[in-house]
Amino acid sequence: MITGKTKLLGVIGHPIAHSLSPIMHNAAIAQIGLDYAYLPFLVKPEDLRRAVDGFAAIGLQGFNITIPHKQAILPLLTEVSPVAQAIGAVNTVWRTDEGWSGTNTDVTGFLHPLAQLECDWSQTIAVILGNGGAARAVVAGCAQLGCAEIQVVGRDVHKLEAFLASWVGSPLAVNVQVHPWPHLPQLLPRAGLLVNTTPIGMVPHVERSPLSPNEADSLSPSVIAYDLIYTPSPTVFLQQATERGAIAIDGLEMLIQQGAAALEIWLQQPVPVDIMRRSLQQHLNRL
Ligand code: NAP
Repeated sequence: MITGKTKLLGVIGHPIAHSLSPIMHNAAIAQIGLDYAYLPFLVKPEDLRRAVDGFAAIGLQGFNITIPHKQAILPLLTEVSPVAQAIGAVNTVWRTDEGWSGTNTDVTGFLHPLAQLECDWSQTIAVILGNGGAARAVVAGCAQLGCAEIQVVGRDVHKLEAFLASWVGSPLAVNVQVHPWPHLPQLLPRAGLLVNTTPIGMVPHVERSPLSPNEADSLSPSVIAYDLIYTPSPTVFLQQATERGAIAIDGLEMLIQQGAAALEIWLQQPVPVDIMRRSLQQHLNRL
């Protein structure tokens, strides 16, 4: 129930109507029994500063940030965590006496399912498909795991060069190499962790995969295939990998865990991750 004392949290993006964050955050808040509400806010790029000033004026406690504001928010913050600085993107913001502080919980979310596996990451070659925003969190996560190699494959050579340059001098000690897409067949048989950060295979184009049938056949049976996409589940990419005997991880747990990490920052207490997971599984008809 909304009361006169209800504290506000939210998520800003453009578009925002597709966001699943209000579902899982409000489910967790209701379970804990706190007088908070989490709302979606549609904010156009040109309105970002006014929106953030407005949030300060109305006493919003904190908010998530999604496309297209994850980089643009940085100059509006008084403090940015080292991991968010290294990635160059913020997805979680909270109030301080000085203003707004920000961090990026996507790395925590990405790493959570991998932390459940017993792997010698120091021997693992990570191959990352795509070099967009999510790939940055994945690279930071692979660096945190201590992967032997981090190989990023993309389709635009200029963007790949810029991606590579952005990690030079990174406080995360990221050691990354980049490759144009035609190099993928040489990398695949060596991949111990293969992460799809492209939208290939996402609804509505669910029949697509970033791997051709021949490329999928070249995968090692011991590969861990991780798709950041969570609809459909499994994607064709994950089906190809499991047919080879691989471990498959979809993007739902990453979504849940990045949200749980953000909610813990705002509420400063443990949050019911199982309730957050169940609310999304119900919403996505995955129970
Ligand atoms: P983004 O910044 O737009 O990056 C997408 C990347 O995929 C870019 O490198 C893009 O290349 C590449 N790409 C797109 N279409 C391609 C194609 N047909 N062939 C080859 N490469 C292609 O998007 P993002 O924010 O990183 O998100 C990427 C995916 O991750 C989305 O499916 C998103 O839903 C998912 N995601 C999931 C979570 C989670 O919590 N599970 C979190 C974040 C993102 P160009 O730059 O050359 O266009």
